[in-house]
Order: sequence, then C-alpha cells, then structure tokens
Amino acid sequence: MIRFKKWALIDANTIATLDKYPVEKRPSRWDGQTKAVKKFKDEVLKQGLAIQEQKCAWCTLNVGTLGRRTAHRDHIAPKAKYPQWTFFAKNLIIACEYCNGFAVKGEINTVSKVEDVYENCIFHVVHPYLDDPSDHLEFLGDSPLSVTIRSRTPKGLWTIDKLQLDTAGATMERAKDRLLEMYMNDLSPAQKGLLKSASDSLGK
Ligand SMILES: [Zn+2]
Repeated sequence: MIRFKKWALIDANTIATLDKYPVEKRPSRWDGQTKAVKKFKDEVLKQGLAIQEQKCAWCTLNVGTLGRRTAHRDHIAPKAKYPQWTFFAKNLIIACEYCNGFAVKGEINTVSKVEDVYENCIFHVVHPYLDDPSDHLEFLGDSPLSVTIRSRTPKGLWTIDKLQLDTAGATMERAKDRLLEMYMNDLSPAQKGLLKSASDSLGK
C-alpha cells in the first residue's frame, strides 16, 4: 500500500446535486447516467489515477496503460453497507480489478465502528488517506525491488489477509512491475514496440 495525501476534488454544484439523492438510493444511483453521477465518477477516476500515479492503492500494481490490470473506483467502506458514503470522494480509491473484485474485497465490511463523521470511524482496513500505511505494513528489501509485504500491526495483518496482498501471485506481479520500470529506458525500439502494442490491446 501507498499513502495518499490527496483525493479527488469535486465541484460544489456536483456535490450539492448528489447530496440530494436519498441515502438509501445512492448505491443504485452509482450506475446511473445523470450528469452529476458521471461527473463525479469521471473526476474520481481521472484525478485518482494522477494522484496514485496509476498504481492500485492496495497491491501497488500498475493499472491503466502501463499495467495489465484495469483501473476501478473502489469504495473503501462498501456502498451496499454504507450508502451514505457512495458519493464521498474520501471513501473512493483507485484499485485494480483483482483487489476490487468479488473474490477479494467485494463487499467485505472494512469498518469496525461507524460514526456520523467519516473521519471519526474506526476502520478494520488500513485506510489509504486516513492512515499512514507504513505504520501498519512494510515492504521488505531495498527499494525499488521491495515487493514482499509484511504486517506490523493487527490492522496491517487484517488488510494483508483480507486483500490477499501477500500471495505469491501478487508478489511476483509487483516484482515484474518494478523490473519493467527499472529497465524501461534501456529497452530497444523493438522491445518498446512490443510493450506498446501489448498496452494498446488492453481493454479491447
Ligand atoms: Zn490491486
């Protein structure tokens, strides 16, 4: 995990429109096509990818054009259980399809104590905005090839366990991503062409 000190800034008009939706209806409005919903989702994705430098908040793998995984908007507190934060930018993070997917995070309850004010909630999960992940988790080895994750606290352990951050697959993918970043500038034109054609085919 990586710490993010910023989240998507949404304009006041959009927020005012979304705040008028009845709380219990918000999760179903998420997939709607209204201007405010589209604007909110577009900004969360666009700003989130820039803030997170195209990395999944949980497993740190590249998403988007550089990665083999696609970028998803992930509700940190799941919207089905916490509809009040469906359109709350601080509750959204960019995650890869694997971490965000049903088999891993899905609708898992990440909140241990709910409060009216989001920031006052107690979370089971290491929160990418409210916590400093390095207090709870560490990557072993020298940067940039520190890809093996270990917990430092019970919260870190919960996060690694539930989000399956320490599987051989996730660790191997992190190693591949880091190696690619290290050697990107040394690749021949033919090798760069191969990567470009591979990334161009993403999402097709
Ligand atoms: Zn991920």
